Amino acid sequence: MQPATQAWWFAAGRLLGTVLIGFSAGWLLGSPWGGLACALGLHLGWQLANLFRLEWWLRHRSYAEPPDVGGVWGEIIAQIVRLHRRKRFHKQRFVQLMRQLQHSTAALPNGVVILNAQREIVWFNLMAARLLDLRRSADLGLRIENLLREPEFKRYLEARDYSNPVVIRPATAEDCYLSLQVVPYGDGQQLMLVSDVSRQMRLEAVRRDFVANASHELRSPLTVITGYLETLCQDPALDRDLQGPVAEMRRQAERMTGIIRDLLELSRLEETDEVGGGQPLDVAALTSLLRKDVLARPVHPRDVRVRIDSDSQLIGDEPEIHSAFSNLVDNAAKYTPPEGSIEMRWWVDENGGHFAVTDTGMGIPPEHIPRLTERFYRVDAGRSRATGGSGLGLAIVKHVLQRHGAELEVRSTLGSGSTFVCHFPPERVQPARAVLAATV
Ligand code: ADP
Repeated sequence: MQPATQAWWFAAGRLLGTVLIGFSAGWLLGSPWGGLACALGLHLGWQLANLFRLEWWLRHRSYAEPPDVGGVWGEIIAQIVRLHRRKRFHKQRFVQLMRQLQHSTAALPNGVVILNAQREIVWFNLMAARLLDLRRSADLGLRIENLLREPEFKRYLEARDYSNPVVIRPATAEDCYLSLQVVPYGDGQQLMLVSDVSRQMRLEAVRRDFVANASHELRSPLTVITGYLETLCQDPALDRDLQGPVAEMRRQAERMTGIIRDLLELSRLEETDEVGGGQPLDVAALTSLLRKDVLARPVHPRDVRVRIDSDSQLIGDEPEIHSAFSNLVDNAAKYTPPEGSIEMRWWVDENGGHFAVTDTGMGIPPEHIPRLTERFYRVDAGRSRATGGSGLGLAIVKHVLQRHGAELEVRSTLGSGSTFVCHFPPERVQPARAVLAATV
């Protein structure tokens, strides 16, 4: 319990004094209890008057001065005044902070939208209003997916993987690309960051077109050069000293043709985002074809096995899937010595369809694995060139898989071999019975 303040001792003394005076005056006048009752009544009246003044002041405190009362009442009024001042100070600070926050978010070059747990718009800044065409009066409280109906954004929200932004092309603005990223925070709240990436996308398109056009233009002269070099190589009258250099020139020209072929394929893959439908592919037939290709190489691993654990078919674009699988099998053949082995395996489980290529080759150091699918990335550039590699094979694989909603997994142990697995989602797998029914 808090010790009583001086004002309380004074109030207690005053009450005691009132009781004594009332009782004594009453006793002198012949009615001590009557005197006491009168004194207490006066004291109560005085207290009620003070209470009334306090209550009146509380109701009109925005403009009225606090009542000038002493004792406990004065103490209570002083406390209320102090509390009121403190509250006003905090309120002003809060308003100031809110204003600063609003000004700084308004000045942000990016759009910011605050969404609640139901993904309804709670607040947005000026830039978000401009980029997403939002109106403060009409759009507050609406669900964001009802305003942004682009399928990419819908898929992004459904996947709930917000680690990377999604790029959409709003129907309202022509030639405009927006990057959207959701950042969850607090209790189910979400912050959506919006930025205009039209310039980057245009530059990317220019780069893609340049690579595609340059590759296309280089293809014809290179075909002529390769043709002449081939003829020269077969010419028995060719000077002995020139035979070696011409053969090397032919080899390099073929490598360049391979690079240009792969660059053109990559440009074609980048043109569209995703393969919509596709036809059911017989993975068993495809792998046996790939096995034959490996065995037809002048130097190849001795043992090339195929393991088909499911007769389900893979739904996809045939040339693209062929190209991706053949790149993986080609690599396994290139980087595995003749005494080694390769295994191709196809299986289906509740997570979808899986195609794996395992080799007992040289393996890949772990620090290189995350970068393997980058263009022209090679673990050992000299070795890759010697085997005729363009450094684009795994980039093609990654693009093809992305377009089929699939993922590439790489497992490797240096010196003992590698496994490259393509994981396809369940919707890309057609059970054998369905295939049979479709063909009957
Ligand atoms: P490349 O045409 O050089 O083979 P890729 O994009 O197909 O280009 O592969 C990139 C790099 O990954 C290769 O240069 C090679 O170092 C490494 N690599 C790919 N597959 C294998 C494998 N099966 N075994 C060992 N290294 C591999």
